[in-house]
Amino acid sequence: MLEIGRASLLDTVMSNNKQREGLFAFWREVFFISRKLDMDSLISRIKQDGTVLGADILKVDSFLTHQVDPKLMRQIGKVFAEKFKDAGITKVVTIEASGNVPAAYVAEELDVPMIFAKKAKNVTMTDELLTADVYSFTKKITSTIQISRKFLSETDNVLVIDDFLANGQAALGLISILKAANTKISGVGIVIEKSFQTGRALVEETGIPVFSLARIAGFDQGQVVFTEADL
Ligand code: 5GP
Repeated sequence: MLEIGRASLLDTVMSNNKQREGLFAFWREVFFISRKLDMDSLISRIKQDGTVLGADILKVDSFLTHQVDPKLMRQIGKVFAEKFKDAGITKVVTIEASGNVPAAYVAEELDVPMIFAKKAKNVTMTDELLTADVYSFTKKITSTIQISRKFLSETDNVLVIDDFLANGQAALGLISILKAANTKISGVGIVIEKSFQTGRALVEETGIPVFSLARIAGFDQGQVVFTEADL
């Protein structure tokens, strides 16, 4: 009698566990699909509103680099935060100006501060500065980017975020500042990577992984041709 009771209790527990696992798998699937859909919305937005300029520039000023779509930015923030939620990130670091927007949303989701490297020194910057020279792909000028030493420490674990990855100069400049501050660098997260340029390879050569939400293989008669994204 006791044996039968124990057996049926075990059956009930097992079947409850199975149900729980099934439910868990279901929600994981739903979440995964919705995450995929989120980034599909980035790709559709690029297709719909992006303009190809010349051989290698994509203009996305209606939702990312000038006018901003906060809902899309929030989705971007959530996808990066989901990827790095267990990585122990303590700071999100970017470079002004258009990196600030996605970086702030990622930082909010991870509940950590966001720091943006400044491109020009001003009178309020009285603290010790860490600097790097960065050649701007779009402005065709070199600027000295700077971050106050006091905002970075050896105990920091940084996620670098930027809007575009082209030839990697912005990301490499940030990496050199972070290395000077002896922080850990867990990854470089990019909204739009132009995979036909040298940036990804140059960043990966430093041993730091790159995660891009949209990867562009090239431009064909004014149309954007995508390759498989990382997230
Ligand atoms: P990189 O330093 O990787 O050569 O270029 C990255 C920086 O240049 C980004 O922070 C971004 O501001 C700008 N950038 C590079 N390529 C593009 C592009 O095709 N379109 C726009 N809007 N900005 C770009």
